Amino acid sequence: MRPSRTQTLAMTIDEKVRKTLAELGVTDAAGVEALFGEVRAAMEQERSSLVSHGASSEAERDRLSKSLRDRWLARQNGLLANIDERWLKTSPKELKPSVGKSFNGLRQAAAALEMDALVKGVGLKIPTKVAAVDAAEIRGAGLRDLTLPGYCRPLGSLHPVTQMQREIEQIFLNLGFRIEDGPEIESVYYNFDALNIPESHPSRDDWDTLYINAQTVLRTHTSPVQIRAMEKYGAPLYIIIPGKCYRHDNPDASHTPMFHQIEGLAIDSDITFADLKGTLDFFAKKLFGEKIHTRFQPSFFPFTEPSGEVAISCIFCGGEGCRVCKESGWIEVMGCGMVHPQVLHNGGIDPEKYSGWAFGLGVDRYAMMKYDINDIQLLFQSDVRFLEQF
Ligand SMILES: [Zn+2]
Repeated sequence: MRPSRTQTLAMTIDEKVRKTLAELGVTDAAGVEALFGEVRAAMEQERSSLVSHGASSEAERDRLSKSLRDRWLARQNGLLANIDERWLKTSPKELKPSVGKSFNGLRQAAAALEMDALVKGVGLKIPTKVAAVDAAEIRGAGLRDLTLPGYCRPLGSLHPVTQMQREIEQIFLNLGFRIEDGPEIESVYYNFDALNIPESHPSRDDWDTLYINAQTVLRTHTSPVQIRAMEKYGAPLYIIIPGKCYRHDNPDASHTPMFHQIEGLAIDSDITFADLKGTLDFFAKKLFGEKIHTRFQPSFFPFTEPSGEVAISCIFCGGEGCRVCKESGWIEVMGCGMVHPQVLHNGGIDPEKYSGWAFGLGVDRYAMMKYDINDIQLLFQSDVRFLEQF
């Protein structure tokens, strides 16, 4: 069946050369001239596209040129060979003179696609990275070179905070803890009340906490997940809780309004402070090296009783005293304590039957220590020159 005019218009040159003139609806000399005009325009467009894009190397230039040459001039299945076969040889007698004349003109014009002529015109100038994109554009313009290399997308790497977080997680996973998470937009109840933080506590102040409304905050620590997990699983419970936290802090070298914490929580029968000390000492040695010592000092948190601060012997000077440890030989690395009986109770766990310990640490600070980064802002500015060092 003869295709409609719109169908003919929608066909590519490649499709047209696979049909006869009759199938294309070409029945007179003017039609022949228009059709060959179209072919010559397509050919010239592909040639000039290659010439104007250039190539990044001689090898690439030769490959692109050969690809274009073969597409048009190859004896087997080249576009001109198809035109000879389908349009010239099968054309009706009355059209033969005009088809023959147009075909000769096309062959002469196609001499510009012979390798010698083509290679002269293609400049070698563009850098390799751009070349991949340009080659794709050229291909889109009509070249069909399946041997062209594909796009090369640069591989990224894990953010130093993510690397640190995973390293810490792995130590606790090996100890039989599991990972738990919870919402960053949290109710005042879970963020403060259930954790035994009284209404009068300064941390609840507008100046320390980002409130969404009177009942809702951006969580200021990962501790609310402790309550959520107690309600969900009951005791015994061994979890670590990594995640983002938010405080009303102005950014400086050691503060950001968003930071990362990991908390740990262990609840079971007969859990004592000795379990806490043993576990955290083991953790510190795994993370910072076997030579590290840990030191526990009394502290205060509303949700633990007793509470403590954990310091490790300075990883930079080995305890001798240096700039980082402010000559003390110790670096404070986390807060910890035995879970307050009221908090267990709030989580639905009977404090008469069970006891537990908890700790919390700042992942960003650990990453800064490990990678010797002196400004926390660097971690969150997304500067690739900084990030690609890790
Ligand atoms: Zn030191």
